[in-house]
Amino acid sequence: MLSIKNLHVSVKRNKILNGLNLEVKTGELHVVMGRNGSGKSTLANVISGQDNYSIDKGEIQYFKENLLDMEVEERASKGVFMSFQYPVEIPGINNAYFLRSAINSQKKFNNEKEITAPNFMKEYKDHMAKLDLDSSFLSRSLNEGFSGGEKKRNEMLQMLMLKPKLCILDETDSGLDVDSLRVISQSIQSMRESNRAFIVITHYHRILEHLDADYVHILSKGQIAKTGSKDLAIEIENKGFKEVLST
Ligand code: ADP
Ligand code: MG
Repeated sequence: MLSIKNLHVSVKRNKILNGLNLEVKTGELHVVMGRNGSGKSTLANVISGQDNYSIDKGEIQYFKENLLDMEVEERASKGVFMSFQYPVEIPGINNAYFLRSAINSQKKFNNEKEITAPNFMKEYKDHMAKLDLDSSFLSRSLNEGFSGGEKKRNEMLQMLMLKPKLCILDETDSGLDVDSLRVISQSIQSMRESNRAFIVITHYHRILEHLDADYVHILSKGQIAKTGSKDLAIEIENKGFKEVLST
C-alpha cells in the first residue's frame, strides 16, 4: 500500500532523510527505531503531509497514487492517520465534536453517509470504556489539560473511530505507565486487519512485547540501515544502536 523510493528530505537546508526506501504491504506492522534526531518523526510527518519539509528527491506511492501530490486533508480522507509525538491542545474545541466532524468530513470526501449523533455516541462510549477513559472526556476540550497518557489514549480513540488504512504512531508509547501501554497496544492489536497497515515508531522494545511486529527497521544516516524481526529490537536494547549497526 505504501512504497517509498529514494526519499530525500531536508529541513532548513539540513538533510534529514537521504535516500530512504520502505515498502509497507497491507496487513503488516512495521516498527521504526533509531537514535534521537535520526529522522523518525520527519518520516512520519512527511507521510502524513505536515508542512515545513522540503522533499528534494524520491517518491511515495500510496495505493499506487502519488501521495506527495495530496494535501494533508486528502491523505487523511484516504485513510492515512498519524498519532503525534506531542499532541496539540485546542481549548474551546470539544473532544467529541472534533472527532465527529473529522469522521464526517472523511465520509463526505468518500461519498459515504454521515455518522448519526446516536451511532457516534454509542461507538464513542464503547471505545472510551475499552480505553479506560472517563466519560468526562466527552465534554472536555481537545487534549486540554489531558495528562500524557490521556492524550495518547485519546489518540487511540480517534484511530479506533476513524478506522484508517495506514496508521502511523509516533512514539505513542513514550512516557506511558504499564497499564496505559497495555491498553494502547491492545487497541493497536485489535485493529490489525488484512487491509490495514501500521508504522510504529518507538524507542523501547517494551511495546513490542505486546505487538506482533512483522519488521523492525533501524533508521540511521537518513536511511533504513538495518531491517530485522522482533529480535532486532531486543538486540538494540541489549547492545545499543551503535554496536548493532556496526555488525
Ligand atoms: P527523531 O524523531 O528521530 O528524533 P526528527 O525527525 O524529529 O528525529 O529530527 C531529525 C533531525 O531534523 C533533527 O536533527 C532535528 O533537529 C531536525 N529537525 C526536525 N524538524 C526540524 C525543524 N522544524 N527545524 C529544524 N530542524 C528540524
Ligand atoms: Mg521523534
